[in-house]
Amino acid sequence: MPRTLQADSLQSTVASILRAAGSQQAEAEQVAANLVMANLSGHDSHGVGMLPRYIDAVAEGGLHPNASVRINLDIGTLLSLDGQHGYGQVVGVQAMELGIERARRHGSCILTLAHAHHLGRIGHFAEMATSHGLVSMHFVNVLSRPVVAPWGGGDGRFGTNPCCIGIPLAGAEPFVLDYATSRVAQGKMRVAHNKGERVPPGYLIDENGAPTDDPGVVVVPQGNGLFGALMTFGEHKGYGMALACELLGGALTGGGTWHRPADTSRSVLNGMLTVLIDPERLGTQASFDQESREFVEWLRRSPPGQGFDAVQIAGEPERQARAARRRDGIWVDDATWGEIVAAGAKVGVAVAA
Ligand code: NAD
Repeated sequence: MPRTLQADSLQSTVASILRAAGSQQAEAEQVAANLVMANLSGHDSHGVGMLPRYIDAVAEGGLHPNASVRINLDIGTLLSLDGQHGYGQVVGVQAMELGIERARRHGSCILTLAHAHHLGRIGHFAEMATSHGLVSMHFVNVLSRPVVAPWGGGDGRFGTNPCCIGIPLAGAEPFVLDYATSRVAQGKMRVAHNKGERVPPGYLIDENGAPTDDPGVVVVPQGNGLFGALMTFGEHKGYGMALACELLGGALTGGGTWHRPADTSRSVLNGMLTVLIDPERLGTQASFDQESREFVEWLRRSPPGQGFDAVQIAGEPERQARAARRRDGIWVDDATWGEIVAAGAKVGVAVAA
């Protein structure tokens, strides 16, 4: 049966499975907290439903528990880091802590992070930066089955390559724009498939390159053994952004790009280019605060369009979801829960089915 769970209880179940899969207690808790925060934020695609894949990736050797970020190059405002196949929720945070300290000291920092295992919700890193008053920009590629078609192409050639921009707003919650460059996140297709739902037109092509509304085409192999593909958002513009993420997150970082046929590996590696800017050190803090506040107020005075209550800014939907799900609990569908139970069984943790 689908179930609604409180965040604390879900987190402790997930942490116990991660612990049994080889993570030290602190790592297990950090990864579990990050996954549950994705669910709380309304992004079930990057929440606890990823756990079974992580457990398989550890067993295959593509994900290394208890790994730390390695510094390959450090010249103050430029850092080249290697995630050493560690949990992205851990090495990503370590990378950001280094970058935030540098940006506060020098005014800016550009950092590259290669070979991180799945970084999860990229907005988590932008929220770290904005909580220190910093602007942050993130370009990420995904080394996993190539699930997104190039504009004008008929099969998957790259991943859902997310990009993210965090901007602190004086006296208000930050702007956190954080999305996959695919029309929707791959994990959302897994969730839709698990719920037996169809998706709107324009999201997907099938294994023959034809439009379809069946999310299963990117979740399970089709009749000819091939998968379909997701489309990028915004036609050629989103495609261009996805390509930029591949070149910056994959090629520039040293993590590598995807240019080979799909394989069955369960690991998901991310490369990330991050740019951090301190408005205070830039000398524009006062005008930045005033202009951004006045602009956001101006936006909010726009009359609601048809079908909308009000203009929102990026980051608000996630904060609203957090408030609601902390209060009401996190709904986990039957298929996802079954996969979590099976993942627990693989490492000797009995989770009530
Ligand atoms: P999405 O389509 O839900 O878009 C989310 C963004 O749009 C957020 O910034 C949100 O605040 C903003 N937004 C939503 N509704 C809005 C409204 N009405 N007005 C203004 N802004 C609004 O996100 P997605 O593309 O499904 O991505 C989900 C998550 O998946 C992200 O956190 C992303 O980082 C993550 N992701 C990770 C990877 C990886 O490999 N690590 C890959 C792809 C996606």
